[in-house]
Amino acid sequence: MSGTMNSVLEVSDLRKSFGGIAAVDGVSFEVREGEILGIIGPNGSGKSTLFNCVLGQLTPSSGEVRVDGMRTTGMRPCDLNRLGVSRTFQLLQVFPQLSVRDNLILAGQEHQGSMFSRLFGRADAGLGEAADQMIEFFRLSHLAAAAAGALSYGQQKLLDAAMAFMAGPRLVLLDEPAGGVNLTMLANLRERLQAYHAEYNATFVVIEHQMEFVMALCTRVLVLAEGRIIAEGAPADIRKNPIVIEAYLGH
Ligand code: ADP
Ligand code: MG
Repeated sequence: MSGTMNSVLEVSDLRKSFGGIAAVDGVSFEVREGEILGIIGPNGSGKSTLFNCVLGQLTPSSGEVRVDGMRTTGMRPCDLNRLGVSRTFQLLQVFPQLSVRDNLILAGQEHQGSMFSRLFGRADAGLGEAADQMIEFFRLSHLAAAAAGALSYGQQKLLDAAMAFMAGPRLVLLDEPAGGVNLTMLANLRERLQAYHAEYNATFVVIEHQMEFVMALCTRVLVLAEGRIIAEGAPADIRKNPIVIEAYLGH
C-alpha cells in the first residue's frame, strides 16, 4: 500500500527511456515531511531525468508520482508549482538583468500562479515582503538592488536556491545547488539551507555531486547508478558502503 502518513512525495516504479535507453529504470522512493533527502550518483545515472519526470518537464514512460498522496504523474510544471512543488535546475535560472529582489518576486509569482497576483491586484502580488525576508535569510541584503548578473557565480547559486523557496513551497527539488561553487560559498550555502530547514521544517530533495556537501546536509541519501537505486541509508552508512564506493570508483 502506498500513502504513508506525512509522505510528501512518493515515486513508484518510475521509468523514462530515451530511444530505447532507460535513463531511469524503475525507481521507487518516498520523501517524508521535514526530510532532506540527498540523491547522489555518477554522471549520467539519471538524477536530473528523475527530477524532470517528477516535475513535469518530462513525461515518464511508466510509473507513478504522488504529491501529498495525490497522483501528479504527467502534470505540467506550472500545475505542480501551484501544488507547492518547486525546483532549481542544474544550470542557473536567474534573470541577469533583473535585480536580486525582482528575481525573488518573479519566482514567487511563478510558484503561486498568475491568478494570485490578479487577486491581489498589486504589481508585486504582495511578494515584496516575502522577497525581503528571503534576502535577509540568505544574507543577500547588500545585493538586493544589484542586477543578478553582477553577482559572483556562488552568490547567483545562492539566489537561485532562495528563489525555489519563495511562496512557502511544500517540496523543493534542488539539482546540483553546489555545482561549480567555491568552498567558502559552498559552506555558506549548506549552512543557509540547514538554517532554512531548521526554521521552517522545509522538505527538500537535493541532487549533488559534491559528496561532502550531501553528507553534511542530508538526513538520508539515495544512490543512483545506471537509472536504478543501488543503495539507500544514513549518510554515514552510505559513505562506507562498498557498493557505493565501487559505483564511484568504477566511473
Ligand atoms: P545525471 O543528472 O545523473 O547526470 P541525466 O538524467 O542527465 O543524468 O542523464 C541520464 C541519461 O539519460 C544519460 O545517459 C543522458 O545522456 C540521457 N539523457 C538525458 N536527457 C536526455 C534527453 N533529453 N534525450 C536523450 N537522452 C537523454
Ligand atoms: Mg544532472
